[in-house]
Amino acid sequence: MAKNYDYLIVGAGLFGAVFAHEAALRGKKVKVIEKRNHIAGNIYTKEVDGIQVHQYGAHIFHTSDKDIWNYVNQFAEFNRYTNSPVANYKGHMYNLPFNMNTFSELWGVRTPDEARAKIQEQKDAVKLSGEPKNLEEQAISLIGTDVYEKLIKGYTEKQWGQEATDLPAFIIRRLPVRYTFDNNYFNDTYQGIPIGGYTQIVEKMLDHPEIDVETGVDFFAHKDQYLKDYPKVIFTGMIDQYFDYQLGELEYRSLRFETEELDVDNYQGNAVINYTDAETPFTRIIEHKHFEFGKGDKGKSVITREYPADWKRGDEPYYPVNNSRNNSLYKQYAALAKQEGNVIFGGRLGQYRYYDMHQVIHAALVLVNSEI
Ligand code: FAD
Ligand code: UDP
Repeated sequence: MAKNYDYLIVGAGLFGAVFAHEAALRGKKVKVIEKRNHIAGNIYTKEVDGIQVHQYGAHIFHTSDKDIWNYVNQFAEFNRYTNSPVANYKGHMYNLPFNMNTFSELWGVRTPDEARAKIQEQKDAVKLSGEPKNLEEQAISLIGTDVYEKLIKGYTEKQWGQEATDLPAFIIRRLPVRYTFDNNYFNDTYQGIPIGGYTQIVEKMLDHPEIDVETGVDFFAHKDQYLKDYPKVIFTGMIDQYFDYQLGELEYRSLRFETEELDVDNYQGNAVINYTDAETPFTRIIEHKHFEFGKGDKGKSVITREYPADWKRGDEPYYPVNNSRNNSLYKQYAALAKQEGNVIFGGRLGQYRYYDMHQVIHAALVLVNSEI
């Protein structure tokens, strides 16, 4: 160890970068290691044909927390992009999230009262009782059977590789249901895409004389040595892997991204189109230039198809699967983590939570304040 580091941070994703940045500002010496050959974790973007390509899926920043919004705006200027995905169900297009445009397209209704009546009629026909016990019941109780069958069931079951009746209800509560003609996917006060991409945010966070970064280095190649050499470790990889899966594997969902450079100006007319039927093997197509209002070289566009995939050891764990079995196993790992004195677990994988970016920043700032 060349310097007397105060912290080793495992993972140069958003959590690790915020922690490293804040620790350095507080006078700490920090080493960051990252197993991929680039920084920024899953928010990594790269320029292709003048377009910022979201290498690991569409990332839209949104928050209602003014402090978090101001915090992230230190590192980039954000545009006014508003996420408004469109669903393609067997060739028919519907606006998302579920709102008056969707209901009107589905049923020809014109007013909120007409839409509510239609949804109530469908809910009554199913006769649900008590609190929704799974994603299917939650979805039907929110928006009835038509929306569920056309826009949710197929997408959800391919995304998670499980029946909607086996999935937790909270996943579908991420999406708004609105009785206004408003296609904004998020209810948050602030939303946008960083002009020039996300990678610069992490680059700026890590650009400090007290921070050293090494990519292409896997913590597990020298775990014991790292634990000996560094007084404190912030670990943002998989918590079950850290403990050598000794209590069993947590479940993750993986993805395969298929990216294509096309010689067209405008392929699909929107940044995100979801394919909500069960048969199409991918869940969505992103056309990256639309995140920045058509920026990019003339006559060029870059698209990415997102294929959900089962996870096995060695694959990228994009999503934790927060059902009750996994959450209770995670609790047991968290108890082991508590005994691990000088190691703190953070981020989407370290805390096994379906965190969005603003929540990751918040969690990292809370940790810095309690730690230092
Ligand atoms: P990560 O970004 O996963 O960073 C962890 C890093 O640790 C990785 O770089 C990994 O390579 C490294 N690492 C792991 N193990 C080791 C090891 N053993 N040794 C060294 N390095 C290691 N959020 C939003 O707010 N809006 C969105 O629109 C949005 N869309 C998303 C779409 C997709 C497809 C996905 C997967 C996520 C999306 N998110 C979105 C969530 C967002 O990506 C996360 O909140 C955020 O990136 C998590 O940051 P993190 O640092 O916790 O994890
Ligand atoms: N979802 C759906 N149909 C859609 C979009 C989303 O059924 O067209 C469901 C699906 O179960 C998904 C969840 O809503 O996993 C959350 O969607 P979100 O867009 O937040 O997913 P993410 O961007 O995190 O993959």
